[in-house]
Amino acid sequence: MRLAEYDGKALLRRHGLAVPRSMLVQAGEQPPKEAAGWSGYFLKAQLLEGGRGKSGLVRRLQNLSEFREARRLILATLDDADTPLLLEEAVPIVQEIFAAARIDGTGQRLELLLAPEGGENIEQSAKKLARIPIDVAAPATAEEIFPAVSRIFAHDLAAPLARYAARLPDIARKEDLQLLEINPLALTKDRSFVACDAKIIRDEAADFRHDPTEFSLSRTLAERAMTGLERAARDLGFQLVETDGNVVLVTSGAGLAMMMMDLLADHGLRAASFMDNLRNARDETMNERLKIARLLATRPNIKAIVFQTVIASRSLAERIDALISWITAEPLPKPLFVGLAAGHAATRRMSPEQAIDKLRALGVPAFTDPVALVRAAAQALGKR
Ligand code: GDP
Ligand code: MN
Repeated sequence: MRLAEYDGKALLRRHGLAVPRSMLVQAGEQPPKEAAGWSGYFLKAQLLEGGRGKSGLVRRLQNLSEFREARRLILATLDDADTPLLLEEAVPIVQEIFAAARIDGTGQRLELLLAPEGGENIEQSAKKLARIPIDVAAPATAEEIFPAVSRIFAHDLAAPLARYAARLPDIARKEDLQLLEINPLALTKDRSFVACDAKIIRDEAADFRHDPTEFSLSRTLAERAMTGLERAARDLGFQLVETDGNVVLVTSGAGLAMMMMDLLADHGLRAASFMDNLRNARDETMNERLKIARLLATRPNIKAIVFQTVIASRSLAERIDALISWITAEPLPKPLFVGLAAGHAATRRMSPEQAIDKLRALGVPAFTDPVALVRAAAQALGKR
């Protein structure tokens, strides 16, 4: 779950890290009176996306008389006039630092990242980047990370920054975060650190450990960002992400979906859908997936439907019979290509060869090899 900046900063504040004074302003509201005495302002669109500064969605105001015009400019850039805005006191920044703690999946640990030139061009300016591995069971102390920090930060800054940064992996662990990124982390004139932005992603698998009512702004924004079909899919018990592509991809499980998306891309095709299981939902949602796939496939930009299933122990016969009922219920809006892989226990009533014969008898190309499946779809669509 991605947190909006406002919620991310609330999380940081809860752990004692300094953030600028700020207030959330909803659509149509006047600038809050309490902000009148601040020494300069930023007005920032609250979206679940980064790069706002470069898109004109973060605007600096000298005083509150500029509020209306800044809001107008931000909302003119967005589709959604209801986007909440964060009005924040401008922090006088001496140095923009990049600081992040994230899960290093390959290393099976946390990783702390620090760079002396943060801000909007971090991708280009991160030539100097400290990557410090953190053992989750025994997080590094400030003393332990100091040597790596002092290699790329001025000596007088390295010690306080190491103390600050050493807290981040600990917060990430306690809050079940996949990513805790502060960019920019402001070094102020009085040499304190203030988190001027927060990009925080919490692992949804750990949701049960946390208050389900917190971060309501982020939840509302995520809900609003979903398409109608994505919402319909969720209500039917699976996760759909619509992507910009020309092939409706029907799979179960994120790993298989990603493999098939890559295979399609290798053959000049682009998946228009990503499907995954939902936590705490029914484990069998093939019929629901097919229902949504049919709706997606009616769109003019869609050229084909690719269905790939992998079953270990459930019955292949049942799955193929259900697929065939779907195929024959009403004409398919686009050509269908089927791939299937079945473990031994799944094939008691129907072998993969029998399944393929049944589908081919209906004129549906079917394969046991996913590469052959994608190649056939690509050939039919005139891509190599
Ligand atoms: P992002 O572009 O979506 O990452 O949005 P940010 O919140 O990081 O804002 C973009 C840029 O505005 C930052 O990289 C800073 O350069 C600048 N900025 C944001 N907040 C402050 C602040 O309080 N003071 C100063 N001086 N600059 C800020
Ligand atoms: Mn930022």
